[in-house]
Amino acid sequence: MSFDFDLTAPFVPEFSTRDQMEHRHKVFPVQLIAANSNNPQAFRLNENALNAVLGHREIANKKIVIISVAGAFRKGKSFLLNFFLEYLYALQNAQQNDIKLEWLGDDTQLQGFHWRSGAKRDTVGIWLWGEPIMIEAANGEKYAVVLMDTQGTFDNSSTLKQCTTIFGLSTLLSSLQCYNVVDNIPEDALQHLTLFVEYGRLALKEAQDFGKPFQQLTFVVRDFKSPEEFPYSDGGSKFLEQVLQVTPDQPEELRVVREQLKECFDTLSCFLLPHPGYKVAEQGSFKGYVKDIRPLFREEAKRMTTALLNPQVLQPKLVNGKEITCKKMIDYIREFSRVFENNLLPEPRSILNANAQLMCVEAAMEAKTSYCRGMDRSTAGPRMMSEKKLLEAHIKHGITALNIFDKCPKIGDGEVRSANLARLQEDINAELEKYKRLNEDKRVTGCASALLACGDSIVF
Ligand code: GDP
Ligand code: MG
Repeated sequence: MSFDFDLTAPFVPEFSTRDQMEHRHKVFPVQLIAANSNNPQAFRLNENALNAVLGHREIANKKIVIISVAGAFRKGKSFLLNFFLEYLYALQNAQQNDIKLEWLGDDTQLQGFHWRSGAKRDTVGIWLWGEPIMIEAANGEKYAVVLMDTQGTFDNSSTLKQCTTIFGLSTLLSSLQCYNVVDNIPEDALQHLTLFVEYGRLALKEAQDFGKPFQQLTFVVRDFKSPEEFPYSDGGSKFLEQVLQVTPDQPEELRVVREQLKECFDTLSCFLLPHPGYKVAEQGSFKGYVKDIRPLFREEAKRMTTALLNPQVLQPKLVNGKEITCKKMIDYIREFSRVFENNLLPEPRSILNANAQLMCVEAAMEAKTSYCRGMDRSTAGPRMMSEKKLLEAHIKHGITALNIFDKCPKIGDGEVRSANLARLQEDINAELEKYKRLNEDKRVTGCASALLACGDSIVF
């Protein structure tokens, strides 16, 4: 599966502070996953959006960090993402222009992701910020940071499945999933994580070499009302500890989700946010000006954003234990969207198979490249080889290629592996035919050069 990097304009030029402000206001969120117009119950991947955000040659080999915010609708997810956007652009600017990081001043207007009051629901889907923001991590490497917004509601049974699907897909794609909840972490919020728990259990059994299947899950509790017991600033982890406590009198399924969550995610954390003030929550006229936000909320949101996104903690997305690049992420998004596209919540087994497919495709590509390199070397001479010699080279490099494929970890259903192996064998045979033709061509050119070498002495 190859991808055409087709963008003409150079990506993320270095900006002065003013230019960056101007540039930024020309960028918008793009919808990556939308309801299918022929079947509103199904989803489709928007290839153009994927291409627009990740398909730039300049970032193809940069590691990607994906930060998602998910949860019920009208609970301030998009609003929060605009804090993230503000921070990341300010950080990018500070790093590029070597100036002090300052952000969220009184006159800042939060904007970017679409947020609004009222009960009318946007359509279900996943949005990406229109460009990755390039951040230099503590190790000196530049990461492409992508923000992901999800839209949906868990409010009734007809949309519940859709939203669980969106939630599932965004968790699978992100390196940091912020699970936005209000007031508390209710039992059903944990229940929505059941899919991951089941998938995680399977992945841990079959693919234990890759470490935990998921990276970071952070609960963000909005309008938190018990700061005396659990202070906003640092009470989150104690609060989460209490929620995830396993007790002998809990029903089995509640206990299992809790235990497995800890097994499946590398990091679990929690931030408690105060109410943002009546202007934000109630006034339809609120335009996003920071001065209208309750100072306590502003401080806590700022603290949380910095804690989650600072260059010391940014984590590239890991797939099967490997940090992946923007280019690889394109394949990953395609493969996983396919598993989720018919809006039936996928079986954990299908997710594992999608994972197996990605690994097999990568191993087959590596195997084929090795075969072609070997054959190029063996057939490099100007003279035509005997058919026997050519076949010997084919067998030698073919075996090396199959050994490379064989090293690919054995997870998922056997059929995924055997289908990819069969395709690799076909590909190698097709390559052999090419080498045979090239070899044949040398018979002609070889004769011609022999004639030329004889040069003057030949008289026609
Ligand atoms: P989303 O559907 O979850 O993305 O929610 P939005 O970000 O669109 O916000 C919905 C409404 O809630 C807007 O009017 C926001 O101003 C308001 N809002 C944002 N954050 C908070 C919060 O922490 N608490 C309350 N009560 N309202 C908020
Ligand atoms: Mg929203």
